Amino acid sequence: MHIPCNGINIGLDNSSGDIPFLSHAHSDHTSGLKSQPKILTTLETRDLADINAALANIDGTAMLDAGHMLGARQLAIEGDGERVVYTGDISLKANIFGWKAELPQCDHLIMEATYGDPTYIFPPLEEIYSQINRWVSENDTSNLIIGSYELGKTQELIRVLNESSVAPIVTEKAENFCKIYEKYGVKLDRVVIGTNEAEEAMSRRFVAIVPMRKAKKYFAARLEKAFERQTLCAVATGWALHYRFNTDAAFALSDHADFDDLVYYIEQSEAKDVEFFCGDGSKVLAATKGVLLNI
Ligand SMILES: [Zn+2]
Repeated sequence: MHIPCNGINIGLDNSSGDIPFLSHAHSDHTSGLKSQPKILTTLETRDLADINAALANIDGTAMLDAGHMLGARQLAIEGDGERVVYTGDISLKANIFGWKAELPQCDHLIMEATYGDPTYIFPPLEEIYSQINRWVSENDTSNLIIGSYELGKTQELIRVLNESSVAPIVTEKAENFCKIYEKYGVKLDRVVIGTNEAEEAMSRRFVAIVPMRKAKKYFAARLEKAFERQTLCAVATGWALHYRFNTDAAFALSDHADFDDLVYYIEQSEAKDVEFFCGDGSKVLAATKGVLLNI
């Protein structure tokens, strides 16, 4: 999908136009963009996505906060008397870093609908953060592994655990992203696997953040045998609200807008028309129908 702006076709998280806009560094948005000579994005996203392209500046465009993760932005495009907004991935509620999406007004809205189902309404983030820290302190003689996506969610989780004075063990891949977070002023207290510090930390009870695929009971059982200490596993993902994982605990920690947020976003945008990418937005649209018909 691309949108024209002052004679330039801007690709929306893809390479179909003249210059791409990259909303954030998650890999489902960066494919095909690594070889582009010029890209419209933030410094943070360019670093996290490991892209060398020059940063583009396009008249008539503005990047707006998206929440979601470090460097994430929405794109507003002014042209032909119309304002178009492309949300990329957004989260409306301020996360532990205080990041949240701006709520712009526009004529045409192109928005994500990852959680476009009315059953996906998340508890307040503070509640989820407390659940995680409660689980960690209630099981303080067990080793704990928590599965989460290595970019974005893991850094949020590290900060959550830091609030309970826990410095979790992280993978090298997650560490590469942590270093970039720190480059932009986000302090994260963690221990990197394979270092002397990690070896020392793992001689006592530890908390580790692992890739989602490792947060399984069989992996916890292997660690339990290796370290001779009870080991429990959990996941931190929005899907945990309804989906059952093969873990001891599951926390519905999401960095996306939930159903109510999507409805609210559309209503306040006063958009004349809305289209969705990433998920089915038909139920969101139905919930806002009354508002849209009044325009
Ligand atoms: Zn994302």
